[in-house]
Amino acid sequence: MIFDRFFPDMYVRSVYELPIDELKKRSIKVLVFDIDNTLAPFDVAKPDDDIVELLKFLKKQGFKLSILSNNNKERIEIFNENLGTLAVYKAGKPGIKKLRAVMKRFDALPEETAMIGDQAFTDVWCGNRAGALSILTSPICKRDQLITKVKRGMERFVMGFYFRREGIKPFKIN
Ligand SMILES: [Mg+2]
Repeated sequence: MIFDRFFPDMYVRSVYELPIDELKKRSIKVLVFDIDNTLAPFDVAKPDDDIVELLKFLKKQGFKLSILSNNNKERIEIFNENLGTLAVYKAGKPGIKKLRAVMKRFDALPEETAMIGDQAFTDVWCGNRAGALSILTSPICKRDQLITKVKRGMERFVMGFYFRREGIKPFKIN
């Protein structure tokens, strides 16, 4: 259907529910994360301890990690201080140029790469267009930048088709 491009390959409640074994089975080597409302609320400058631990764990599991955000340089650099991932700012998602650059940097194929984020119109679409595995998470909190708030309404409408097709109930946002 016309909205297929916005539909993720997987849907998880949060990044803590990423199916590690399944990702390995699918030969995923690179995990690319959105920041705002995926790893942290958009107005929180640093990742909390749990996120730092999670990314450490994922690294230990052998994944290469990147954060890919449409937000600005300062936001991304401060956020990445304790993470040490390949951090990309002003990514222009759903444009795929920067995601492609991340794959190239890690010498990974699109099908070895997962794009993980809370927005269908930016993160999921970007992942799908680039041929990566797209994983939608439920947004961390209800607070959003104004522009995102506007998009959320449309997103809810479009994703309604996805959730009905998959027969799953979208998770409640905290
Ligand atoms: Mg986001």
